[in-house]
Amino acid sequence: MFKTARIKLTVWYLLIIMLVSLMFSLTIYKVLSNEIERFERAQRFRIEKQWQENQFFDEANRPPPLFNPELIKESKQRIIIDLAFINLIIFIVAGGSGYFLSGKTLKPIKEMVDEQNRFISDASHELRTPLTSLKTAMEVYLRNNNSTLDEAKEIISENIGEVNRLQVLSDQLLQLTQYQKPNGQVKREKILISTIIKEAKQKVKSITKAKQIIIKENITDCEIQADKYSLIDLLVILLDNAIKYSPKKSQIIISVRKEDSYLYLKVIDQGIGIAKDELSHIFDRFYRADNARQKNGVGGYGLGLSIAKKIVELHHGLIEAESKVNKGTTFSVKFQV
Ligand code: ADP
Repeated sequence: MFKTARIKLTVWYLLIIMLVSLMFSLTIYKVLSNEIERFERAQRFRIEKQWQENQFFDEANRPPPLFNPELIKESKQRIIIDLAFINLIIFIVAGGSGYFLSGKTLKPIKEMVDEQNRFISDASHELRTPLTSLKTAMEVYLRNNNSTLDEAKEIISENIGEVNRLQVLSDQLLQLTQYQKPNGQVKREKILISTIIKEAKQKVKSITKAKQIIIKENITDCEIQADKYSLIDLLVILLDNAIKYSPKKSQIIISVRKEDSYLYLKVIDQGIGIAKDELSHIFDRFYRADNARQKNGVGGYGLGLSIAKKIVELHHGLIEAESKVNKGTTFSVKFQV
């Protein structure tokens, strides 16, 4: 598909360039032919006038015409050949560079389409597993003639858990596509960093409480220019992970400082940590580190950090993680505000 589109675009480029070139050649040909004819007429007129004024010249001595009409015709033909040759060169050069340029023009579109296809296949792969397990559980129940009401209740409550997880997945997929828009730009507004922290903490309040985790703050409050809601989303993702992957009654520190026009935000936990070789993958879509997968029931689909990365990129910033297994993880974010 990309190849056909590239060839079509090249043909269009070529068509436009050749149309301009041919029109230009036609004009050049007309101008040059007119100039030759005008020059020939002027010269003939001058010689004939000289001849008429000169009394010594008689009719028998009349000079031959200065320009042979055959010569003029030949000159015109030469111009046509030269112009045709120039047009041929333009055709070859424009064809080559048109093919190159159309490749460059279509490259971002191709990358976007490839990315979208990858996204769809990843998402459907993730959806298939829980849907299959839901279907199997219900089918097994229906096939069993001696099924009791209690068993039905058990299956339904298990399935509700699975449906809740699917809901989280669809919410995260939506969130990711929203931050993934090709010309995605954030609406910046003036906001206090303490407000963002307060709202993010409020959103994770129930899980913080459930694990009796203490969130400490080490912040220098300041006003920043950023998209409020995406920053809350970002902090919620980092806090949610810190809580999920930390033991009960542990501590999480949020530190913030503003230097020049940059904001430095850190979320530090005392959790299970991430192995060194996995650190470079955690921002990939649907990636879950081994330690997270071992903790059955904990964690999601490996989308949180890819959403976080998109938010940071929309603010032209950087996000990175440092971690020590069983000691804790620090996520550092830096962006211009
Ligand atoms: P998930 O929904 O699985 O948490 P994320 O994209 O948020 O997906 O994170 C990707 C992976 O990075 C997680 O599966 C986990 O292995 C690892 N991870 C992220 N944050 C932490 C953390 N604070 N401590 C330990 N591991 C983490």
